Amino acid sequence: MTTHTTRMLIIGSGPAGLSAAIYGARAGLQPIVVQGLQPGGQLTITTDVENYPGFREVIQGPWLMQEMQAQAEHVGTRMMWDTIVSVDTTSWPFRAVGDGGDVYEGETLVIATGAQAKWLGVPGEHELGGKGVSACATCDGFFYRGKKVVVIGGGNTAVEEALYLTNHSQDVTLVHRRDSLRAEKILQDRLFAHPNITVIWNKAVDRFLGDPLAGGLTGLALTDTVTGEKSELSTEGAFVAIGHAPATELFKGQLELDDSGYILVQPGTPKTAVPGVFACGDVMDHVYRQAVTAAGTGCMAALDAERFLAAREFEEARAVVAAAS
Ligand code: NDP
Repeated sequence: MTTHTTRMLIIGSGPAGLSAAIYGARAGLQPIVVQGLQPGGQLTITTDVENYPGFREVIQGPWLMQEMQAQAEHVGTRMMWDTIVSVDTTSWPFRAVGDGGDVYEGETLVIATGAQAKWLGVPGEHELGGKGVSACATCDGFFYRGKKVVVIGGGNTAVEEALYLTNHSQDVTLVHRRDSLRAEKILQDRLFAHPNITVIWNKAVDRFLGDPLAGGLTGLALTDTVTGEKSELSTEGAFVAIGHAPATELFKGQLELDDSGYILVQPGTPKTAVPGVFACGDVMDHVYRQAVTAAGTGCMAALDAERFLAAREFEEARAVVAAAS
């Protein structure tokens, strides 16, 4: 068992965590990034990325994350192949324990553990992932321009994704398992008023149809949740939008979470209620959820961490002077 100490401990290695690391390292804070179970985060399970600024051509998600990690290491970040199993934010320095027993102590703590899209868990969904099945219209909608697309879900995300997809498709269908949506009324109004969106009520998805090796998704097998009637809906693009699960289990009881489990931060900042603890990326953002916004809030977390340490040092120096005089 080893104890690792740092001025900036970062949990999570997606765009938020690595951006915080790049800024923290360049500020001389010698950050440690504990990578977690999915090093590189959600982008490592996507393929084409066309909306991360700076690249004229389509790039690959895993490649982008490798580059970000290499950049973070190049400026002095220490990357740890470990998964944090417990965190203590009640004393300073903040303390985290990895699954092998290593201890990490940070004068500041940046939480960038991200979120995972929820999946339906039905046959074909996993196999056709990236081949017609996606959980992010903003990321992948463009690839289905001019095609018929389907969104599954009835919350704000599903409605926003359906509306977004009308930028690319003239034929968008929302499939929902009940006969009413839980999305905000203003979003529902926009959805129902849109001429290119059809809503199919009371339908559960049984299976995604198609061959991952030849042509990808071709449709959905559905069951009517009221009558039990079976049907099929043809489509080349299906967007599962049934919510996200933020990775905040470690912080329950220590940091304030909202009703959906996201870490609460002071508006417009990555500051949690605990001074010196910052949250960035999808773990605190259920609205934008983009690699570039995660990177942005990661940068903000590093800048605020640096300010926190500077203010603390100033207070300590003042206390020493006061004691000496
Ligand atoms: P929600 O939990 O609000 O909605 C999930 C939807 O998916 C529900 O309609 C639910 O159906 C459906 N669903 C869940 N599981 C299944 C399943 N197994 N099969 C079929 N359907 C399923 O998630 P959202 O991602 O939409 O929103 C999460 C939070 O983020 C909310 O607080 C939301 O308000 C917020 N948000 C805010 C935005 C904004 O302010 N612009 C944008 C996006 C999200 P049912 O209704 O039957 O339970």
